[in-house]
Amino acid sequence: MDAAVQIAERDEAEQPEQPELYASWRKIHPKYQPGFFRRVRWIVTSVLLGLYYILPMLRWDRPGEMPDQAILFDLPGRKFYIFDLVIWPQEVFLLTFLLMAAAFGLFLMTALAGRVFCGYICFQTVWTDLFLWVEHWVEGPPRRRREWDAAPWSLRKIGIRLIKHGLWLLIGVATGGAFVFYFADAPTLLREFLNGTAPYAAWFTLGFLTLGTYVMAGFAREQVCIYMCPYSRFQGAMFDQETLVIAYDEKRGEPRISSRRQRREGSAGDCIDCKECVRVCPTGIDIRDGQQYQCITCAACVDACDSVMDRLRKPRGLVGYTSFDALTGVTPPRFRFRVWLYGALTLGALGAVMFHFLTRAPLELNVLRQRQPLYVALSDGSVRNGYTARLLNMTSQPQTYRLTVEGVKGASLHVEAAEAAADGSYRLRAESGEVVPYTVFVTQSEEFAKLGAQGDLPVQFKLTGLDPTGGSASYHSVFIRPR
Ligand code: SF4
Ligand code: SF4
Repeated sequence: MDAAVQIAERDEAEQPEQPELYASWRKIHPKYQPGFFRRVRWIVTSVLLGLYYILPMLRWDRPGEMPDQAILFDLPGRKFYIFDLVIWPQEVFLLTFLLMAAAFGLFLMTALAGRVFCGYICFQTVWTDLFLWVEHWVEGPPRRRREWDAAPWSLRKIGIRLIKHGLWLLIGVATGGAFVFYFADAPTLLREFLNGTAPYAAWFTLGFLTLGTYVMAGFAREQVCIYMCPYSRFQGAMFDQETLVIAYDEKRGEPRISSRRQRREGSAGDCIDCKECVRVCPTGIDIRDGQQYQCITCAACVDACDSVMDRLRKPRGLVGYTSFDALTGVTPPRFRFRVWLYGALTLGALGAVMFHFLTRAPLELNVLRQRQPLYVALSDGSVRNGYTARLLNMTSQPQTYRLTVEGVKGASLHVEAAEAAADGSYRLRAESGEVVPYTVFVTQSEEFAKLGAQGDLPVQFKLTGLDPTGGSASYHSVFIRPR
């Protein structure tokens, strides 16, 4: 054999074995595990799903043509109605503060209790739980489900699969349906769906969300948490030594021995290597291998191990909530900087939103001066300026306002299409949520128009609700006179 070939073969033989970089997907069939944390998660799921489905159906008295809906995101009208609170297009900046409060609140929750959001609140977890429960109910426990997967197609298998996928799709339709009801009058839209006259956008959203729920909760499941959700990758940055995590107590559990005889003979740890904690895990990991980013802190393994410990008459908590400090036996008093920081930032963002709502006026007034002509010198020597006043009634009732003008001596007011009052002011009306433009003329009499130096004068328009709930507003402009 030629020397070059020998060298090439030797080099190839000496190459270190390449690790397998691709792991094919393995379907996980987690076991349903009752227990304390399972009950807590059912309660949280019921509350969250109950709110999600019921809120758009809640009725709330609204004036005029608006649907009597407690929570309504009126996209064509560009207004959000949340019970008595109306968020206007010019207040959309509040969304920034609300998103900041939500983000910092999530960071705070993570710093204190780890991925409790992922395990109990995240919609992916909530819907996956529901889908898994349906699967368990229709197909049976994991062993039976694996048998169904492996079984050849038969009438019975087709029937079982049809029931499961039908129920999954029903949940998907309910999910998408509830979502679109937040954007229109829910009972009307429901009738339109039933008689096939709903708008295309509503059909499209319903179809998209039905499919999204069906695929994400029925098929993608744990892969969303492991591969798609960016939060699982950076949540560790918010942890500190006292953050609550779910962990296996290695000191107590090891050496893990499953054989009863060996356990009686030697000094075995409390873990009997039954793998119940692995069987119930929705992401398919073994918590005994240490902290892993795949762990969504659902606590199913805690319930599983606690039930094993109960059977063995040993104390619970071999797998449980703990902190890194508790695991390493270190308990120095710590100043938890990030907890205080996230707390302060959350309160700051919420405070800004609260401050805005507590101090916002229920009325907005804008006045634009007419530029053509700049002023009109009338035949009796008086000078007139024209303005367009736009008022926005942000209360839930129709309002009547009193308009006056100040700053120009000898000025009189005239408002087109409005009622004049005996004191020279005018009565302007606006329905709830309505922006009403009024043409306003301010006229300075000859006597005052000729007084002093000629030139522009500051003028102030004042609008006051006749009803105290109407609020008040003012606007500064100029009154132009001939030079
Ligand atoms: S390791 Fe335990 S807490 Fe983490 S995902 Fe699995 S079952 Fe849930
Ligand atoms: S459930 Fe508990 S005893 Fe069983 S393997 Fe897991 S940690 Fe060990």
